[in-house]
Amino acid sequence: KSASAYTYPLLIKNILTAPLRYAPEQEIVYRDSHRYTYREFAKRVARLAHALGDIGICAGDTVAVLDWDSHRYLECYFAVPMMGAILHTLNFRLSPEQLAYTINHAEDDVIIVHQDFLPVFEQIRPLLGREIKVVSIAEGEQEFQLPEAVGEYEELLSWKSDDYIFPDFDENAAATIFYTTGTTGRPKGVSFSHRQIVLHTYGFISGLCAFESFVSVNSGDVYLPLTPMFHVHAWGMPYLFTMLGAKQVYPGRYEPAKILELVAREGATFSHCVPTIMHMILSDPSAEVTDLSGWKVVIGGSALSQGLCVEAEKRGINLFAAYGMSETCPLLTIAIPKAHMLQQEGDLTIIRCRTGLPVPMVDMEIVDPDGKPLVRDGKQKGEVVVRSPWLAQAYVKDPEKSEELWRDGWLHTGDVGVIDPEGYLQITDRIKDVIKTGGEWISSLELEDLISRHEAVSEAAVIGVPHEKWGERPVTLVVLKQGFGRAVTEEELKELYEESAESGLIPKYGIPDRVLIVSSIAKTSVGKLNKKALRETYRTALSN
Ligand code: ADP
Repeated sequence: KSASAYTYPLLIKNILTAPLRYAPEQEIVYRDSHRYTYREFAKRVARLAHALGDIGICAGDTVAVLDWDSHRYLECYFAVPMMGAILHTLNFRLSPEQLAYTINHAEDDVIIVHQDFLPVFEQIRPLLGREIKVVSIAEGEQEFQLPEAVGEYEELLSWKSDDYIFPDFDENAAATIFYTTGTTGRPKGVSFSHRQIVLHTYGFISGLCAFESFVSVNSGDVYLPLTPMFHVHAWGMPYLFTMLGAKQVYPGRYEPAKILELVAREGATFSHCVPTIMHMILSDPSAEVTDLSGWKVVIGGSALSQGLCVEAEKRGINLFAAYGMSETCPLLTIAIPKAHMLQQEGDLTIIRCRTGLPVPMVDMEIVDPDGKPLVRDGKQKGEVVVRSPWLAQAYVKDPEKSEELWRDGWLHTGDVGVIDPEGYLQITDRIKDVIKTGGEWISSLELEDLISRHEAVSEAAVIGVPHEKWGERPVTLVVLKQGFGRAVTEEELKELYEESAESGLIPKYGIPDRVLIVSSIAKTSVGKLNKKALRETYRTALSN
């Protein structure tokens, strides 16, 4: 190596260079209350770093944020790691006890908290085992008091210099930390380095754009996140769209009518969310009168059902699935077609709803319980295991759980699926949600997808319910569409399964014993079907 050669580190600060060169006047919008340019954004990132430095934050310290999706949050996404500190994105849907646990566990040094969350923070405070500085965010007219705060965000930023020399350091330094949603047991901490986030940004953009497909993304897109910024860095998308210098629109608190208004007013063309959110948006009365054509939305976090996909397509939305998890930064696969599939006439819905093809730099296998790779014939089911440069190396301070996560050099996802000869993955279940009936496994996701295609069905969940003879039997829970024109019976819904069994789509033993029409289905803190809670609620559904 030449004495003057330099190894350019993969640091988050370097993501911010391109947009300032290409599109410094491009806009970043926050709801109805703020609108500014990338040039001003970069200045505020510098000011925030000064402000945090002035209250004693150094490299290696941890800065927690409790806010809705906002331009300020985006400033934290950059300023905090760029200083060498670690950004802890707090999940405001966790209970105060769980939140306190994560703050203590991550050893947060400062918390930046929006005024809407101050009542929650008051509950958390007595549970904190450490000194923590508080920066408040004031918004609107509302008066609030937090005497112990070191300052208010905007006040702290004012009078600071626009210049900050962000240092170079090891690309393997931690940039972020957050906690899995903890549907079972305690939330588990995962942390990602600068290198991983930068590589994930490249992996995502290449997965979306490098292949001829029904989706393309570039700097002309208008980005609006609909996966909260606390959840796996909003799937890393804010980093991606910042790198592109695209217009960004941050919606604050998620309210369907407001989201629809922002999509129309700001011309959003790209979003991402879990199915529940898309569902909420489409069910809002204002969806009927909003032009949603050309809106590309990646659905992840749960399977995309064909029912939802068709519903969205009717409104002109370009919907397609992607797959990943908190531990994988998150992106693993995207449901894009291959060139020869695009050339075929016909419906691409099935492809859009697949779990997808691994994006560049992701290796994937399905394995048997001994870790042996299974044949890619679209039939053999096994656990999905992955490798990629952006996977969490361990759970934070939890060697035991980390050993379960990584085995034989592969990250074990805990998901069961098949890979077809074309290389497409289809998740059939989570290992813990698989329905085991008389020695056979039944895929709950497949049964959910089937019933989603019934015209009256709005939402569905399939769970295993204890059964004396078979151990477990599937039961489908269905929420009907509001104002659906005619009465629908459980028998009619069950017929759809019977027909599917007759035509060989599912085995006969896969027909759920009951299809229960319910008024709502329990969800987790990030809007996924809460199967654990549902199994508990409907435990006796087959015993009376
Ligand atoms: P949590 O584990 O708390 O649900 P994650 O966001 O990490 O939080 O969830 C990851 C899990 O979500 C995956 O392991 C998988 O079971 C499920 N998932 C994500 N995307 C998809 C998809 N496209 N299809 C089916 N399941 C998915």
